[in-house]
Amino acid sequence: MAHTLGRERIQFVNAEDKQEFSKFPTKAGRRSLSRSISQSSTDSYSSAASYTDSSDDETTPREKPQTNSRGSNDFCVKNIKQAEFGRREIEIAEQDMSALISLRKRAQGEKPLAGAKIVGCTHITAQTAVLIETLVALGAQCRWTACNIYSTQNEVAAALAETGVPVFAWKGESEDDFWWCIDRCVTSDGWQANMILDDGGDLTHWVYKKYPNTFKKVRGIVEESVTGVHRLYQLSKAGKLCVPAMNVNDSVTKQKFDNLYCCRESILDGLKRTTDIMFGGKQVVVCGYGEVGKGCCTALKALGAIVCITEIDPICALQACMDGFRVVKLSEVIRLMDVVITCTGNKNVVSREQLDRMKNGCIVCNMGHSNTEIDVASLRSPELTWERVRSQVDHIIWPDGKRVILLAEGRLLNLSCSTVPTFVLSITATTQALALIELFNAPEGRYKQDVYLLPKKMDEYVASLHLPNFDAHLTELTDEQAKYMGLNKNGPFKPNYYRY
Ligand code: NAD
Repeated sequence: MAHTLGRERIQFVNAEDKQEFSKFPTKAGRRSLSRSISQSSTDSYSSAASYTDSSDDETTPREKPQTNSRGSNDFCVKNIKQAEFGRREIEIAEQDMSALISLRKRAQGEKPLAGAKIVGCTHITAQTAVLIETLVALGAQCRWTACNIYSTQNEVAAALAETGVPVFAWKGESEDDFWWCIDRCVTSDGWQANMILDDGGDLTHWVYKKYPNTFKKVRGIVEESVTGVHRLYQLSKAGKLCVPAMNVNDSVTKQKFDNLYCCRESILDGLKRTTDIMFGGKQVVVCGYGEVGKGCCTALKALGAIVCITEIDPICALQACMDGFRVVKLSEVIRLMDVVITCTGNKNVVSREQLDRMKNGCIVCNMGHSNTEIDVASLRSPELTWERVRSQVDHIIWPDGKRVILLAEGRLLNLSCSTVPTFVLSITATTQALALIELFNAPEGRYKQDVYLLPKKMDEYVASLHLPNFDAHLTELTDEQAKYMGLNKNGPFKPNYYRY
């Protein structure tokens, strides 16, 4: 992945934690739908909680008059009157997103995104609002839509619309609403986007399909999710990618933090909220010992669960052994398990035959990107009874009375049933902001029509911006040490192939 970091334009100095901006030229009622229409962005995060969900109000926002206190009607949200409450949610998120707040301060009047017209399609949550307002503070104009039909916090969308950000999103959109919102976001009289921030690739896909001329002005696409990145690589391979794109998903500060630490914290929350389970002494099998699996296992083990692993890859299997987990075949242990968790990104990891063999009361859930890991479709058969016992909790009842507890119909547990930690979202959002700054300010020719990784030095910078939260003090290389190691004192500190 060739790229050139604008070393001459941007200085990341770890010790003083200084960046010179001055050197810049200056995604209800439609439960059959998956969380995202295209299944995109299920590998990224949202807060499932919307505290002001006014689901009893059946009027579609598309039919409601929309005007904020400044008289603008260039937005479409559930209820603009929730703006004040949404503002408080945003302020709470800001407390754990100090890296973005410090980016705003560092810009100090200099606007590295001045002239940037960013069209965004992400989960619309308090944390995203902090990102959007940071982009605005850095000089950008933003229009925003949701990458997911269920994840919008209505009050947050209202707060953004109230401050003048054209937002088109509400919780429980229909499929038609979803694309309508994207379309309204892209099209606006006299305003044309020159940057795209996407999560899942639906916005990018829509612009390609409906408004290909937009790409004449677009300087770059920043994409967060595994799915969206996959779509970009397909476009690139087919020679159809017409602007540079930044793959944020594979940044170390995304993969090694979002996937690992976020899941370490949210697996327990998702399971507790839905089942009130006590973990001590429970037999749990985790399928897949990648980043997500490692996070889940660490948390479960810490609470006294007896955890075993299934893996296809000998390296990950060996890691699991070294970490003290038994590596087994699912069929060997399935009868004994209290909880089965999938996190492979693969399909049919838990088959109907294995579901048939589970014991009464076994909890089955998925932490991987789509609802394909557990063969849920096979459970929709006449001999089995489905009983909805709580939101996102179904009992599947066999003819002999055995019950299996299926969470979130096999979709991502943490995204569907709990919230995810703001701090982790801060890391990802900071990565997105820096990727936008880099692509927007890159001199012509630096980035071709290809998919790039965020320069390592920027990955390091994202991490360094989050260290003050812990009062962590980095050791500086001496001149002698830097020479001995062949490193620049200011980084990057690792080669691109380093695995962390
Ligand atoms: P990864 O590639 O690091 O790990 C997946 C592991 O599953 C690999 O080690 C692979 O060998 C193993 N595997 C594949 N097929 C298997 C099978 N049939 N049986 C047993 N093991 C198998 O990926 P990751 O970063 O851990 O992500 C895993 C999934 O979780 C992806 O789909 C990703 O998009 C998603 N994800 C979820 C969240 C979340 O918040 N829930 C966050 C990030 C990523």
